[in-house]
Amino acid sequence: MSAVGFKGAGAILLLCLWLAKAAAWAEPLLSASQMQHLKQKGKITYCIDPDWLPFEALSKQAKHTGISAEYIRLLQKMLPVPLELYPTSDWPASLQAAKDRHCDLLTLAMPTPSRLEYLNFSKTYLDVPNVVVTTKDKAFIRSVADIPDSAPIGIRAGFGTLELYQQRYPQLQLVPFHSYEQGLVQVQAGNLYGMLGNMGSISFSLQQNSITNLKIAGRLAEDTLLSLACRNDDPVLLEIFDTLLAQISPEQKQQINNHWLAIRYDQGFDYELFWQMLLAFVLLISIVSISYLKLKKLNQALTEANIRLEQLSQHDPLTGLYNRQYFEPRVQQALALCQRQQLPLTLAMMDLDHFKQINDNLGHNFGDQCLKDFATLCQSQFQRKDDLLVRYGGEEFVLVSVGCDAETMQELLQDFLQRLEAHQVQLNKQQGHCTVSIGWYCDIPPSDMDSETLVELADQALYLAKDAGRNCLVRSKAVVSSSPDC
Ligand code: GH3
Ligand code: MG
Ligand code: MG
Repeated sequence: MSAVGFKGAGAILLLCLWLAKAAAWAEPLLSASQMQHLKQKGKITYCIDPDWLPFEALSKQAKHTGISAEYIRLLQKMLPVPLELYPTSDWPASLQAAKDRHCDLLTLAMPTPSRLEYLNFSKTYLDVPNVVVTTKDKAFIRSVADIPDSAPIGIRAGFGTLELYQQRYPQLQLVPFHSYEQGLVQVQAGNLYGMLGNMGSISFSLQQNSITNLKIAGRLAEDTLLSLACRNDDPVLLEIFDTLLAQISPEQKQQINNHWLAIRYDQGFDYELFWQMLLAFVLLISIVSISYLKLKKLNQALTEANIRLEQLSQHDPLTGLYNRQYFEPRVQQALALCQRQQLPLTLAMMDLDHFKQINDNLGHNFGDQCLKDFATLCQSQFQRKDDLLVRYGGEEFVLVSVGCDAETMQELLQDFLQRLEAHQVQLNKQQGHCTVSIGWYCDIPPSDMDSETLVELADQALYLAKDAGRNCLVRSKAVVSSSPDC
C-alpha cells in the first residue's frame, strides 16, 4: 500500500473512533423509565445538615454551601427535574424529615442500621479519615486499642460515627456533644482524653476556633464513609443517583476536596509571634538608639576636642593671642587683599623693652604676668574686626590691621605706648611696669611686595626704635621716611 493509502486508512479509523465516542456521549445517562419516573415526580427534594462545614451548611442567606452543595450543582446538570432544598433547623430534624418523607434525599449520610430502616444508600462518594484530637502531652494513637480504658472520648451527637463506634467498640466511653467546638473545649480543659471525629470537621473546627494547643494524636482504622441517602420507598431514585454519581470524575472530586478540605490555617492573630517580634523590635531600636546616642556623644567629644586642638594649634597658651603658625597664612591673605583693593595695610612689630631685666629682677612668673597684661591691653586697644594680634615669639608681638590709615594708626599706637607705660603690672605683692618698642609699616602695599619683606620692614623699624631709646614708635622708611617718635 502507498503512503497516501496508509494516511487515508488512518484518517478513516480516527473518524470511526470519534463517531463511536460521540455516540457514547449522545447515549442518555438515564433510561426512559427513569426519566419518566423523574418527570412524574416533578422535583427532588433534599435535606442537609445545616451546620456541618466543610461538608455542608446553610449560609446566612439560607443558601446551601459546602462540599455537598458542589455535588448537588454537578448532579443538577445531569437531571431533567430540579433538586430542591428542604431546609431544616439541624441534622436530627433532617433525619426526621427524611423519615417523614418530606425530603427524598440526604446529601451526605453514613449508612447505619437504624437509618437503613427508611433510607437506601448510594455507593460511597466521600471518604474522610477519622482521627482523635488530644492535648499535646498524650501518646500517639494508632487504633482504638491505644485509647486508655475508661478514658472519656468526645464525639458528635446524632452522627452515624457515634452509632458505628458504639456498636463496634462498646468498651469506649463515648461522650456525645452537639458541636465539635464543645468537645474540643473539654479536651483543652482536661475533662476529656480526646475528641473523635472526621478529619474535615475536626481541622475545620480547630481552625475556626483558633485552637493551637491540641494535636491530632492519630488516625483510626475506620473512615467516615459518606453516601447519598435516598428514601427507601423509591428504589428507582437510588438507581438514578448511583448512575449520576458514577459520572463525576475523580478529578472533579479532587477539585471539590481541595477546595473544602485543604487545611487552611486562618490562625487569626498570633499574639506569641507578635510579642516576640515586638520585643525584638524594641531591643533593636534600643540598641540602635543607644549606639546612636553613644556615637553622638563621641562625635560631640570629638568635635570639642578638634575645636580645642585647633584652638591650641592656633593660639598661644600664655596670652591667648594667635600664634606665629596662624599668623603666616593670615598675613599673606591680608597683604593680597590690600594689594588687590588698594587698602592701607599695617604690620606693627612690638618688642617689650629690657624684658630680660624684668625677668631677672622680678622673676619669670612676673615676666609672664607682664606678657599677659600686655596682651590684654593690646586686645582692648586694637578691637577692629580686621585686626589680628599675634604673639610672634618670646616677648615679641605683631599687629596686622587692614584698612586703617597711617595717621589713625599712629595715634592708636602712640596711645597704646602711653597706656602700657601707665599700666601697673601686679603679681602677688610685686609691682612693676613695662614698655614696648614698635617698628611699624603702614601703607598701600605695592603689588610686588611679599609677606617676608613686609615683616622685614617692620623688623628693621623696630631695631631703629630700640636704637632710638625704646618705648617709642618707628614707622618703616620703605615708603615714607619717619623720625623716631619716642
Ligand atoms: P630689648 O629691650 O633689647 O628687647 O631687651 P630684652 O631684654 O627684652 O631682649 P632679650 O632678647 O635680651 O631678652 C628677651 C627675654 O625675654 C629673654 C627671655 O627670657 C624672655 N622671655 C621670652 N619668652 C618669655 C616668656 O614666655 N616668659 C618670660 N617670663 N620671659 C620670656
Ligand atoms: Mg626680643
Ligand atoms: Mg625685648
